[in-house]
Amino acid sequence: MEIIKSFFYSFISVMKTFQVKDLFDIIAIAFIIYSLNKLIRETRAFQLLKGVFVLVIGYVLSSLFNFVMLSSLLKTFFEFSVIVIFIVFQPEVRRLLEQLGRSKISGTRIKKVAEKNYDINIYKKRELIETLAESARVLSSQRTGALIVIERSTKLGDIATTGTLINAYPSVKLFGNIFFNKAPLHDGAVIIREDCIYAAGCVLPLTVKEESIESHMGTRHRAAVGISEESDAVVIVVSEETGTISLAYNGTLSKGYDKNSLTESLEKFLINEEDLAQDTFLSKLYKKIPFINKKGEKDE
Ligand code: ATP
Ligand code: MG
Repeated sequence: MEIIKSFFYSFISVMKTFQVKDLFDIIAIAFIIYSLNKLIRETRAFQLLKGVFVLVIGYVLSSLFNFVMLSSLLKTFFEFSVIVIFIVFQPEVRRLLEQLGRSKISGTRIKKVAEKNYDINIYKKRELIETLAESARVLSSQRTGALIVIERSTKLGDIATTGTLINAYPSVKLFGNIFFNKAPLHDGAVIIREDCIYAAGCVLPLTVKEESIESHMGTRHRAAVGISEESDAVVIVVSEETGTISLAYNGTLSKGYDKNSLTESLEKFLINEEDLAQDTFLSKLYKKIPFINKKGEKDE
């Protein structure tokens, strides 16, 4: 009874000093809790959180009933819990921070600065898209499995270091070479940075969300969805088993592309309004000047 009374009095005293800024404070905290809940609800971390919740209840009850040993043990646990939570929830915390960095709240200015890094000339983008779409068509017709991650504003340097840095000019033949199933780099993913094949043989995080993927799909498709959950990359997958071309973006996989529909979707993802404004007489001229346009050989 005493506890309820003291809770009631402290509630009244807090309400007396309530200001508008406190409302924003509460909204911010509610937003953080909502985002955390949304982020981890369907992951293994949710089970862990339930365990932590049971311990919190245990601590409150042991303090209420004055179980000295139990409450001091749980208190010690909670004193270290911030570090423990950061270690255990490291993937979720990282994903949350990455999502925050990509959110519209972070402001168009910041977004524009980040986007500058992959803001290559529109002609080069179109050329890259043509090469990617044609490569996917060829690889699909040969039933060669492929996984191509197109980096955007989220930098994937840490993923690239799990493979081999290449820094090569993309071509249909080079993709054929990389994904040829006896080639040393065919396992894993290629990372495209700007208009380059930056790295190959890279290991991607797998998605843990069962509903993002059909049950018969294996690790190649899971890896594509996984990296698209953790970044704003666009990922092309060619299935070795069926030759199906799929595209993963923002945690979802859509399948059944052909060269034309893939080109169309890649243009939507990679070419923005600013690029279109750039698509002027000069960029068209660029295509016609052979010593500026470094593409040496033509792909058949
Ligand atoms: P497919 O339709 O081509 O058979 P799948 O979705 O059924 O694809 P698997 O058959 O399991 O997937 O494909 C295995 C290949 O996927 C591996 O040989 C490797 O090249 C690639 N792969 C598997 N896991 C990863 C990963 N974490 N990161 C990058 N590539 C991966
Ligand atoms: Mg398979």
